[in-house]
Amino acid sequence: MVKFLRRTRRTNDALASDKLWSQVLASSSLFDDLDSVRRDDLRDLALRFCASVHFSGAHGFQVTPFVQLFVAATACLLVLDLGRQHFAHVRTVILYPEAFVAYREEEDDIGIVHSGYEALDGESIEQGAVVLAWKEARPRRHDAPTNLVLHEFAHKLDERTGTCDGMPALASRALRTRWRKVFGEAFERLCMSLEERDDDLGFDDYAATSPSEFFAVCVERFFVCPQTLRTIFPDVHALLAAYFAGKSVV
Ligand SMILES: [Zn+2]
Repeated sequence: MVKFLRRTRRTNDALASDKLWSQVLASSSLFDDLDSVRRDDLRDLALRFCASVHFSGAHGFQVTPFVQLFVAATACLLVLDLGRQHFAHVRTVILYPEAFVAYREEEDDIGIVHSGYEALDGESIEQGAVVLAWKEARPRRHDAPTNLVLHEFAHKLDERTGTCDGMPALASRALRTRWRKVFGEAFERLCMSLEERDDDLGFDDYAATSPSEFFAVCVERFFVCPQTLRTIFPDVHALLAAYFAGKSVV
C-alpha cells in the first residue's frame, strides 16, 4: 500500500511539472491560439481529468506522463467552456502502440448481421472506454484536418444524451430542432457529393458513415481548421461555435 501511494504521488508530481506542461503545449498547434488564462484553465481541467480517468497501456504500450497529459489536454480542449462534468462519464482511456483489432457486428439494410474483425486507430465504446492507437493519436505539427483524440472524445459528448446520433445534449427543443435540420442537410449534401463525385467538400467517405461520425469529423475540423469548415458548412460551424462556447448546452 505504501509503495502504491508513493508511485501515485510520483505520477501526480510528474503530471504537475511546469516543464511537462510546456512540452505538451509546444507539441501541437491545437494549443497555439490559447491565451495564458485559457492555457491555465486547460491545464487545470487536464490535471483533474488525469486524476479521475484511468489510463492503461495495451500490447506493451507504456503510458508516460507526457502521453497522459497530452491526451487529457487535447480531450479537455472540447470542454474548456463546457466544464469538466461533460466528461464525468469517461472513466477509462486505453492506449495501444498502433492500430488494434476489434470485433464488429453490423446489420445491413435488409437485416442481415455481418460480423468480423477490423483494424482500428480509435474507438469510443458507448458508455465505456476511449481506445486510441498512439501512432495516430500522438501530436503532429502538420496540416492534416484530422485529429483522432478530438474525434473519439466528440463521440463521448454525443453519447451524453443516451444515444450516439450526432447531437450532443442541448438546452432547448428549438436548439435540437435547428441542430437536426442543419446537420441533417449538411450530412445529405456530403453523402450526395461523395456519391456523385462532383463537388469535393474535403471530407472522406468515413464522415458519411452515419450522422454520429459526421458530427465527430466536423468537431475535428472545427478545432483543427475552422476556416475550412466555415466555408463549406457555415451553419454547422455556427452551431458548433455556440455549443463549444457553452451557449447552447444543458
Ligand atoms: Zn468515429
